[in-house]
Amino acid sequence: MSDHHRPSQTEEEFFLFEDIEKKRRLASERRKRMAKAEKEELRLRHWMRCPRCGDELQAVRMHDVSTARCLNCGGCWLDAPEIGKLVGSNGRKVVEAVLNIFRK
Ligand SMILES: [Zn+2]
Repeated sequence: MSDHHRPSQTEEEFFLFEDIEKKRRLASERRKRMAKAEKEELRLRHWMRCPRCGDELQAVRMHDVSTARCLNCGGCWLDAPEIGKLVGSNGRKVVEAVLNIFRK
C-alpha cells in the first residue's frame, strides 16, 4: 500500500474499531484501579471501627481467642475461626473472661 492511498472504508472501520477496543480496555482497567482504590479507602476508614456505631474497637486476646469490643455500644466482634474456639470445653470460661474485662 502506497502512502497516498486512502484506506478503504473497511480498513478505516477496522482501525476505528481497533482504537475503540483499545479505549474500552483502558477504561476497564481504569475502573478496576478505581474500584481497588475505593476498596482500600473503605478498608482504612472502617478498620477496627464498630460496624454498629462507628466508634473505635478495642482488641483483646484472652485464652487464645481474639475479640474486638466497642466501649461505646457494647458490641463484641470476632472472626469466624474464633467462634470455633468458643465451642470447646472452656468456651464459657473464655466468654465470661472477655465480658468481665470490659465490665463497667
Ligand atoms: Zn459500637
